[in-house]
Amino acid sequence: MKKRFLLLGILLLLLSYPYLRPLVEDVWQEKEANAAVVPKYQTIRVEQDQIYQGDLLLVSKYDAFHSEGVPSDVINLSSHNYLVEGYRLQDNSIELSEKAAEAFNEMVKTASSDNVKHFMIKSGYQGLEKGHNDTLPDCFSEHHLGTALDVASTQMKMDQAPEGKWLQENAWKYGFILRYPKEKVTITGIPYNPGHYRFVGLPHSAIMQERQLSLEEYVNYLREAKEVSGTINGGDYKIYYYPVATSIMVQVPTNGKYVLSGDNQEGVILTEFL
Ligand SMILES: [Zn+2]
Repeated sequence: MKKRFLLLGILLLLLSYPYLRPLVEDVWQEKEANAAVVPKYQTIRVEQDQIYQGDLLLVSKYDAFHSEGVPSDVINLSSHNYLVEGYRLQDNSIELSEKAAEAFNEMVKTASSDNVKHFMIKSGYQGLEKGHNDTLPDCFSEHHLGTALDVASTQMKMDQAPEGKWLQENAWKYGFILRYPKEKVTITGIPYNPGHYRFVGLPHSAIMQERQLSLEEYVNYLREAKEVSGTINGGDYKIYYYPVATSIMVQVPTNGKYVLSGDNQEGVILTEFL
């Protein structure tokens, strides 16, 4: 009797093997996948040059532009029609960093749906001319970055125009900041300019808007805080500030998105999108 049950048991096991096998293999494959998993973070070396490159460079009345910061993605707007939808260019020589142009184009589209549609770009990127050096006031211009632009209304002065008002309220959503606001004149050292905008990217423009910080104040804030985290457009981010003497090792996500930028003074800012 016992023998018969044993035989039956073996028979059942043999018959069910084809069904069991996939389960067995699944377990094995999972183990292999775990073994091959890449570490979430990797360490990279950040050199001193990085202090002078990126979207968060503080070029101001007191902080000169460094030649390391010459942008590599500058385009001529009039030859990129798909980036000039719904606004005008003062002339066809205007150039801008491509990412700033994309963000501006997107922003103007939204403004247009709010019935604000008379924007014009008056100037953008200005190259460093030969013979200039850091003692010339020209080198304190943000326009060398490719991410600064002068915006106007084709209807009236910017400080009275709906275009100016709309930008003051909404530009931060697209990564832009009003660089020389009325209430920050003592900090920027530059008169109120309702048309000069600067692309710094998200989440930075959002934090600056929320805390009402100029770029000068924001860089200081990051330097003191060393680490800032929050949520933007439904995703979490973390921002780290690192002082850089000669070079430093920094942990960055292996596969995730991150952006590095110098502050144009003494360190780098790592923005990690989680
Ligand atoms: Zn300007």
